[in-house]
Amino acid sequence: MWITVASGKGGTGKTTVAVSLALSVKNAMYVDADVEEPDGALFIKPVIKETFPYTEPIPKIHTDKCIFCGKCADACVYKAIAILKPIRKAMFFPELCHSCGLCAYVCPVKGAIEEVPKEKGKIRKGGKDSHKFMEGILNIGEASATPLIRGMKKYIPKDMDVIIDAPPGTSCPVVESVEDSDFVLLVTEPTPFGLNDLELAVQIVRKMKLPFGIVVNKHEKNNNLVRTYANKEGIDILAEIPFSKEIAEAYSRGIPVVNVIPNGKELFANIFRKIKERLNE
Ligand code: SF4
Ligand code: SF4
Repeated sequence: MWITVASGKGGTGKTTVAVSLALSVKNAMYVDADVEEPDGALFIKPVIKETFPYTEPIPKIHTDKCIFCGKCADACVYKAIAILKPIRKAMFFPELCHSCGLCAYVCPVKGAIEEVPKEKGKIRKGGKDSHKFMEGILNIGEASATPLIRGMKKYIPKDMDVIIDAPPGTSCPVVESVEDSDFVLLVTEPTPFGLNDLELAVQIVRKMKLPFGIVVNKHEKNNNLVRTYANKEGIDILAEIPFSKEIAEAYSRGIPVVNVIPNGKELFANIFRKIKERLNE
């Protein structure tokens, strides 16, 4: 079962929830897909056994063969290629390229476009006790985190429980992280900003027709902001984690919430059990 932990905005406690959930499920794998700022390793402290570059193909235009017809530039929706026909010049902007391969496909001249590998980032794999760990680290200057996240997913074993820690926000890398998941856990905080971003995240998972539920972090008694919204929308709240100075202090020392609150393991194991029950319904 793949569960992706996402949040409409940063700072909601998404990573501490994702790590805690992974540590509460026997033999689970934690995947840090927040590749621009991966910090799950600070909490899990895994032993890294393997690090390797992740590459994707980008076009290389051979101007000795190119006839400067412009078909590649017309096909590229990301405007990564410019063909200056009057002066017979081809320009390529690798930072805009999404490695879709369309330019090479439409090029009418054999050998005018060669696809060459470009490193997007690194993937690190390892584990801690019975838990497996994987994270992606995006190369500085890469325009999009999506290819690296897509690449990491190829290394996730199909036969185990996996918790994917998505990037914050509601952009393409989040959609890529969430895609193929069995369930999406949306972490939010009970503030007007938190609720606004939760609503955006809910719109995305609904559009993708994925089952989902909410975990409220930094919950305070008598604050029913998220509960009122969830009731109105018919969304399950799977857990409410209390606001506490102790949790915040532990977080700053790299201790996940599961190891701080009383019955933490039980609370997160319960979230997992509820998700499983929901999917079996
Ligand atoms: S499609 Fe091929 S031949 Fe035409 S401009 Fe692009 S690289 Fe050159
Ligand atoms: S691979 Fe796709 S994104 Fe990259 S230049 Fe070619 S058409 Fe554009």
